Amino acid sequence: MNKTIINDLDVKSKKILMRVDFNVPINDGVVGDDNRIVAALPSIKYVIENGGKAVLFSHLGRIKSEDDKEGLSLRPVAEKLADLLGKPVTFVPVTEGSQLEKAINDMEDGQVLLVQNTRYEDVVNGEEVKRESKNDKALGEYWASLGDAFVNDAFGTAHRSHASNVGIATAMEANNKPVAAGYLMEKEIEFLGNAVDNPEKPFVAILGGAKVSDKIGVIDHLLGKADKIIIGGGMTYTFYAAQGINIGNSLVEEDKIDVAKEILEKGKDQIILPVDSVVAEKFSNDVEEKTVEGAIPDGYMALDIGPKSVETFEDVLKDAKTVVWNGPMGVFEMPKFAKGTLAIGKFLGDLDAITIVGGGDSTAAVKELGVSDKLTHISTGGGASLEYLEGKELPGIASLSDK
Ligand code: AMP
Repeated sequence: MNKTIINDLDVKSKKILMRVDFNVPINDGVVGDDNRIVAALPSIKYVIENGGKAVLFSHLGRIKSEDDKEGLSLRPVAEKLADLLGKPVTFVPVTEGSQLEKAINDMEDGQVLLVQNTRYEDVVNGEEVKRESKNDKALGEYWASLGDAFVNDAFGTAHRSHASNVGIATAMEANNKPVAAGYLMEKEIEFLGNAVDNPEKPFVAILGGAKVSDKIGVIDHLLGKADKIIIGGGMTYTFYAAQGINIGNSLVEEDKIDVAKEILEKGKDQIILPVDSVVAEKFSNDVEEKTVEGAIPDGYMALDIGPKSVETFEDVLKDAKTVVWNGPMGVFEMPKFAKGTLAIGKFLGDLDAITIVGGGDSTAAVKELGVSDKLTHISTGGGASLEYLEGKELPGIASLSDK
């Protein structure tokens, strides 16, 4: 990788500002799923174990009014982080001013400090000004002035230009201070980057989920890279409609039928669509389902891929050396229509290949199945990983210092 990484930094006695992703669920002041906090530990530990001072920034939820602030304080996260690290974490309940500056200046080597939710800056004196979310230049410069180097370990927000990622990075670089990728960010760039730009072949992409419109950019970009592109999930039926195949009441994006036609034409040797579907008369788990081949009968909607599609897909996947998967094969939230997604997840778990899963829903599916440990990489960023797969330059990555 040609970007500076955390290992390249000399952190001893330095104030290392670090953007992490602590956007975790909090119920009644207690952190629920702490996966994201655990995932940030290696980068935090690198800093403190090498005698640096770790000053952490994260957003939490969305703040649109003063009333939103209290429930979105990062204080519970600081407590959870202290538990996980087995050492105290100083929490500063504000995002700027003398209290924050003094707390940072008082830090000793090896200590950890967490700054209040960066999105507190989105509402100032009751007005929604979005200083954080619109990357207010002065805010990025102010935060950057508090430290000696910046580590960005929040891949999940890398597709956004906010003050706490791109703003700090830009101001740091302007002052010749280093901006490095943390371990999580490095891993994402390495796996997603290699998969797209330098994949071990055959390279197969599996794209599912509800909407074609969300994935057009990805399909387009991957047509030039992947050997095969498997399509499943609700977007299948826009591709069926594009071929004049009856789709009953299945999900369809009428305004994307022409694009689907173009994609099918361009990718005729690459694109593989389901050959059968599990259908029902209603969008519900409490209905009788049946499997049909090809066209969807009138009065029915397709809610999962059928067993023959699973076989067809497995046949394509069995020789693959790199697989990228984004989006479920059906309405996996309902057990009756989760079988296709689960079958593909299980198959990938046993495959001797580099297997990368991105996107909240496919990630949830592989976790539920218990195969996440058998996959090579589970991306932490839904939107960010999609944009990466589209070949877009992510501002959070572009703003890291070159080696
Ligand atoms: P996405 O966020 O685009 O990856 O879409 C994920 C959503 O697509 C999940 O909530 C699924 O329930 C939904 N989905 C998958 N297949 C279908 C389908 N055949 N019909 C309707 N929704 C679907």
